[in-house]
Amino acid sequence: MYAAELCFTSGINPSRPVSDVADLPRLVRRAKQMLEVNKVRAIQSTTGDLRSRMRTWVYRRDKSPCRRCGTTIHVAMNGEPGRERAIYWCPSCQPVTAG
Ligand SMILES: [Zn+2]
Repeated sequence: MYAAELCFTSGINPSRPVSDVADLPRLVRRAKQMLEVNKVRAIQSTTGDLRSRMRTWVYRRDKSPCRRCGTTIHVAMNGEPGRERAIYWCPSCQPVTAG
């Protein structure tokens, strides 16, 4: 969940390798902030909205409109066989070339 949400808030396409991320220390800081905020809450949210179905930007929101631009959120399986995981992203906010 945090990987998907962090990629979205950073504009990074989740299919790209970590080695492609231009400013990794910044990404790590954001991850820490996201975890810290949720550590003290009973309900996890990366949007700041604690209402049901409003708590994430892209995670488990495939086929729904992006909260930022309205583009349909995509989902795909990524990774080596046996170690696949679902990745969620907005093709407009997280183009393959960005980040
Ligand atoms: Zn978007």
